[in-house]
Amino acid sequence: MSFYESVQHYFDKAAAHTGLQAGLLEKINVCNAVYKMYFPVKFGKEVKVIEAYRVQHSHHRSPTKGGIRFSNHVNQEEVMALATLMTYKCAIVNVPFGGAKGGVKITPWQYTPGQLEKITRRYTTELIRRKFIGPAIDVPAPDYGTGPREMAWIYDTYRTFHGEDIDAAGVVTGKPVTQSGIRGRTEATGRGVYYGIREACNHEKDMKKLGLSKGIAGKTMVIQGLGNVGSYSGTISQEEGDAKIVGVVEFEGAIYKESGIDINELLKFRKETGSILNFPGAKNFSQEDRNKGLEFECDILVPAALENQITAENASRIKAKIIAEAANGPITAPAEKILLEAGKLIIPDVYLNAGGVTVSYFEWLKNLSHMRFGRMEKRFQQNQFNAVLRQVEEMTGKTVSIRDRNIIARGADEVDLVRSGLEETMITAYNEVRDTKKRKKKIEDLRTAAFVTALLKIADDYNAMGIFP
Ligand code: GLU
Repeated sequence: MSFYESVQHYFDKAAAHTGLQAGLLEKINVCNAVYKMYFPVKFGKEVKVIEAYRVQHSHHRSPTKGGIRFSNHVNQEEVMALATLMTYKCAIVNVPFGGAKGGVKITPWQYTPGQLEKITRRYTTELIRRKFIGPAIDVPAPDYGTGPREMAWIYDTYRTFHGEDIDAAGVVTGKPVTQSGIRGRTEATGRGVYYGIREACNHEKDMKKLGLSKGIAGKTMVIQGLGNVGSYSGTISQEEGDAKIVGVVEFEGAIYKESGIDINELLKFRKETGSILNFPGAKNFSQEDRNKGLEFECDILVPAALENQITAENASRIKAKIIAEAANGPITAPAEKILLEAGKLIIPDVYLNAGGVTVSYFEWLKNLSHMRFGRMEKRFQQNQFNAVLRQVEEMTGKTVSIRDRNIIARGADEVDLVRSGLEETMITAYNEVRDTKKRKKKIEDLRTAAFVTALLKIADDYNAMGIFP
């Protein structure tokens, strides 16, 4: 079953619980616009023809939103599947965008930064020519193989063509902070993954069913993929959640250490040696055996690499009780069936990795408002808190220490507000999805509940427009 077919399967499974009419369901399901392009790029005397895509899945809200992936595996169906997930993802976390996704079929590390810049700028130009990009039309962001650097090139290219657009910075998110980006965007998906796992673990009843205690602290975790999402999911779960990371799976192999791996140390080690293998005290698994890492003994497995990692072949050997889908589509539909029958809790991608797009939304709002969050209120808050502390000191005759004063009387700056907005979003969305599952007794898993939650919200939008009476 392909990734797109898996997404279709999840849609069909969820649609049956919505009571929505067939025409409306079909309207929600289809990809509204698929743009496949080929463009030439000249490197010295050589000309390369590049295959690329942008898919806008749903225009029920504007703009459409979703990352751009640079990978040799990019194909139309994959981009369509990812664009579809974006629509539901945005609806689940109450981000008012339609879903989209882009893909450029290249292996990024085979190109120099200069060549990548040429490809990115040319791709952006193709999107501009077809009106497939714009702060009010379609707003890309980073995805697998791209990051702030590529987003800065996209922004600059758009600005070159649309110098008159005062909101040009809102054309793309995930930009460097110095290029109208927002603090906290780079870590956002991983941070969201942490908040999502923490919230799931805070439901005592759900944990009891799995034979686990309440709370993320002390739970053992295995992470697949140390890219942006995997590394931040790991560091934040370890530092803020006290989770114990016992295993890591990467391209070059896997490692296991029962007493716990300090993920910051491991990241440093990998930077120095080029590999996670031979990390002090850890057991090695070679490149061929690396997928055994998914089967390590642990409470929480976090696949944070690519799609189709847990399949019908290895699903029955997964020991983790909770599978937290940090990547998009890491579990195939047949594998999901096996995992659910084995009583696992799957926290689905469509909810769990929505932290990225949530903070993208904050960045886009910042760009449209032309002002950093916190600029207006930070000092005001600080002065108010200090005034309250002075009153308390006067009334009690005690003095608040400078250390405590610095903690209590601090006005929120941009990164505080971004984190707080993200935390609120992930907690609220988890409980909305969980409530849907509780309300609709026949729904057995969180993915179906998440899809149903999304479909009902999108249907509400269409109903409000009076399109489907
Ligand atoms: N590529 C990320 C995702 O799949 C982020 C998308 C965005 O920020 O628009 O959710």
